[in-house]
Amino acid sequence: MSDIQKRCAACGSERVIPLATIRDKVNTALSVSSLSISAEPVVAINTNPHAGILTQRHVLSRIHAWVCGDCGYMPLFADDPQQLYAAYQAFLQATQDENRAL
Ligand SMILES: [Zn+2]
Repeated sequence: MSDIQKRCAACGSERVIPLATIRDKVNTALSVSSLSISAEPVVAINTNPHAGILTQRHVLSRIHAWVCGDCGYMPLFADDPQQLYAAYQAFLQATQDENRAL
């Protein structure tokens, strides 16, 4: 997210929390910018569609939330979107190479 949104895309409110941390339920620190979501706070992209489960390579990125303080609209953002997109391109290239070989 290059420019922090100052207005909610869903309701137009300016009461927003722009960089909310997503925490596992184990971490129960309470503050206005903390959310408790039972999930790993990362997104993973597999770079090789042919790898076995033990040899897969994933590119990971931490994520954060943006929260509207009025309607609750809450999109998630990856902190390293360029690395994730590069991994996605590697995945697509490997898939295309396989299709050409068939
Ligand atoms: Zn809103």
